[in-house]
Amino acid sequence: VAPLDPVTVPAAEALGCVVTRPVVAAEAVPPFADSAMDGFAVRSADTISASPESPVALRIAGTLAAGGDPSPFNVGPDAAVRIMTGAPIPPGADAVVMVERTSVVDGGATVEIQAAAAKGDHVRPAGDDVAVGDVVVAEGEVVTPGHLGVLASVGVMTVDVVRRPRVGVLSTGDELVEGTAALRPGQIRESNRHVLLPLVADSGCVPVDLGLVRDDEHAIRASIERAAAECDALLTTGGVSMGDFDFVRTVLDELGDMRWVQIAIKPAKPFAFGVVGPRRIPVFGLPGNPVSSVVSFEVLARPALRRMGGHSTDGLDRLRVTAMADDGLQRKRDGKVHFLRVVVSYGPDHAFHARSAGGQGSHQLSALALANGLAVLGDGEGVAAGGEVEVMLLGGVARPSR
Ligand code: AMP
Ligand code: MG
Repeated sequence: VAPLDPVTVPAAEALGCVVTRPVVAAEAVPPFADSAMDGFAVRSADTISASPESPVALRIAGTLAAGGDPSPFNVGPDAAVRIMTGAPIPPGADAVVMVERTSVVDGGATVEIQAAAAKGDHVRPAGDDVAVGDVVVAEGEVVTPGHLGVLASVGVMTVDVVRRPRVGVLSTGDELVEGTAALRPGQIRESNRHVLLPLVADSGCVPVDLGLVRDDEHAIRASIERAAAECDALLTTGGVSMGDFDFVRTVLDELGDMRWVQIAIKPAKPFAFGVVGPRRIPVFGLPGNPVSSVVSFEVLARPALRRMGGHSTDGLDRLRVTAMADDGLQRKRDGKVHFLRVVVSYGPDHAFHARSAGGQGSHQLSALALANGLAVLGDGEGVAAGGEVEVMLLGGVARPSR
């Protein structure tokens, strides 16, 4: 898959997107020299001899609040202007003495300065944060909340980014029921779309809910044709194994160019990848079992969707860390790589720790809900308690709960 085309979007919609054109500041931040402290703007030369024992008395020439206009003030010899944080440094002054080193006397007419100020003390020069011409967001960067703050600080309202892929998510199966309807014998509630749609959004894409479709060739064809027309990529779940009613396979083979594979991983052995429709959008045929669909999304689909969103190699895969297997993570030798749902924490020993999140069956979604990592176990017997295991982090890492 290849990155999508760039688009210009409002800055607020660019969070997590990859920038395609550097943003250059046309304004300085701060735009003028301002005070970093509440205190008094002074001429530093006037304060050279100041100390707590023999303070220097200066005439208070006025007060400048943040947002105040400094032009009426001119800080002449032996004068000071009361100044608030963020207020512009008035002409004549070259330093600020913080309010804690001063005391106001004479009914407010005079300030006693108790410490010598050096030129520039507590003065933030114009452009100290951003200078005119600075690149505030470089090409290829992923937009963070901090970037959005910087863009706002220089008055930039839009940014050019790789377009977010629109990703259709389709569930199939006659046994599946949506919502709260009573379950008839043999029915279960649909859950895969409810996991995959937010995972798609969390990957920086726009999720498109293509709904739940019966095991009916015509209905499946209609949904896949819709996706081929409206979406940049398609995720299907269910109907890709070897069952008798797996029409997803029939339809994708008819409309697209597909490869049907068995991957040596557990869960999520069956998988399909190909392109479909006149625009040849990529299709990821995920298995129907709820945990399998998530594991194959994480391992096989998500990196491709990130690539379509313009992310570079470091942004494609989840971060992998080495963790200590607190309870041991056992498995049987079967020629496959196993992905176990684990709870990962960061301990007072400055190490990552992992323990099983619960039942490891491919239908046991409840353990996946508790997990923030997938332990990657190569073929063999697994890892004994206290051993090291590689873990893919799926989300944030907490402190250990025990
Ligand atoms: P399939 O790949 O269609 O043969 O489905 C494999 C297993 O996953 C079966 O037990 C299905 O009932 C289950 N399954 C398939 N799709 C979903 C879904 N969207 N939500 C919950 N379970 C599903
Ligand atoms: Mg099915």
